[in-house]
Amino acid sequence: MIVVVGAGPAGIAAALRAQECGARVTVIDDNPSPGGQIWRGESTNTWVERFRNSGIPILAGTRVIAADAAAHTLLLETDENSREIRYEKLILATGSRELFLPFPGWTLPGVFGAGGLQALAKSGLPVSGKRVVIGGTGPLLLAVGAYLRQHGAEVKLIAEQANIQSLAGFAPELLRHPRKVWQGASLQWAIAGVPYRTGCWVESAEGRGRVERVTIRSGRDGFPTSSSWTEDCDYAAIGYGLVPNRELEWSLGENPPDVYIARTGEMEFSFVEGEIAGLTAAGYAERAVLLHPKREKAGAFAAALDTTFTLREELKHLPAPETFVCRCEDVTCERLRPFDSFRAAKLHTRCGMGPCQGRVCEPAASFLFGWPAASDEGRSPRPPVFPARIESLLPVTKG
Ligand SMILES: Cc1cc2nc3c(=O)[nH]c(=O)nc-3n(C[C@H](O)[C@H](O)[C@H](O)COP(=O)(O)OP(=O)(O)OC[C@H]3O[C@@H](n4cnc5c(N)ncnc54)[C@H](O)[C@@H]3O)c2cc1C
Repeated sequence: MIVVVGAGPAGIAAALRAQECGARVTVIDDNPSPGGQIWRGESTNTWVERFRNSGIPILAGTRVIAADAAAHTLLLETDENSREIRYEKLILATGSRELFLPFPGWTLPGVFGAGGLQALAKSGLPVSGKRVVIGGTGPLLLAVGAYLRQHGAEVKLIAEQANIQSLAGFAPELLRHPRKVWQGASLQWAIAGVPYRTGCWVESAEGRGRVERVTIRSGRDGFPTSSSWTEDCDYAAIGYGLVPNRELEWSLGENPPDVYIARTGEMEFSFVEGEIAGLTAAGYAERAVLLHPKREKAGAFAAALDTTFTLREELKHLPAPETFVCRCEDVTCERLRPFDSFRAAKLHTRCGMGPCQGRVCEPAASFLFGWPAASDEGRSPRPPVFPARIESLLPVTKG
């Protein structure tokens, strides 16, 4: 049996392609329904519908908390129970999370990740009539702005940290993808009238007990920082790009047998990565090769996005000395500055040892202090990769 972890675009593509080749497939996802980040709650999406009609079993609301490469097993936990399942082939399509960069006030209630606020709105958080400031970087900000506005929010501003020259440099790559031009134009139309300011970032959030206003800084590359102003808001939605969820992959060790990784990225890239993983796992590697040009094209677009939305140096100075970088363990910026790696900081300060297990603070601190990225440090997280109940870690039911 092929087990696919993740039911976003990559996992859905992998599962459908593998089934097409005659393989028996099961999909696991920690969300209550398939769709991943982008198609969350979209029951009318063609691919989600095709997946639902495929008859492929999905274990929804189920987290994979550990994997054993030698035994070919996964340890699963739901809100009710835990169990172990065996795989013959394993496809990891675990997607990404947002990169949060700490700034004074970022832990106030009402301050969310950009995609995070959208995800909450998709799950029922009322946004109608709420004043929202969106900040950070990348096209996700436009998608979030459009979504929130369609659902009645007053989007006061989109503050994009990249400067206008970077965005202009993206045009030639964009023109190679007519569908993207169309998608971009639709998003621009959906947010018509919302101020979209480039070269700007949210410097701080203030409020009594929850966010009431944010301060925005406008900078010009090569010149001293120019000006700042405040915007009143009910919500601040701030995301600085995406960080792949690779903890499960790392926990399996190097080159584990029968494991296929669908790398994540922009939706088309994730999808084709999923297709390739699905075909290869099902034994049709020669068909997968035919998709390589599609992947290269999607990859070039993703690489151009990365270059366009490279984070500016000024963002490294966002946190004040007393700003928490690790919000789980209350570790401030000041306490982390003396260290030269996340590993050292963790040993000395408990940074990354709380419930998020470093998912939020590790990428943030690595950016802020120039520490080696987790992948370069050859980190191999110990199971469980998510906080788990003690009973889940005791001898488990085999399935
Ligand atoms: C919060 C957020 C919002 C986003 N919104 C948009 C948007 O509106 N528009 C857009 O173009 N792009 C958006 N993106 C980017 C988006 O991730 C990609 O476009 C696309 O969803 C990637 O597909 P994927 O299949 O690789 O990953 P995902 O869609 O992230 O799917 C991965 C799935 O795996 C599940 N998973 C991960 N680990 C485990 C585990 N151990 N056990 C069980 N399940 C697991 C996750 O919960 C998720 O459902 C968003 C990203 C984030 C982080």
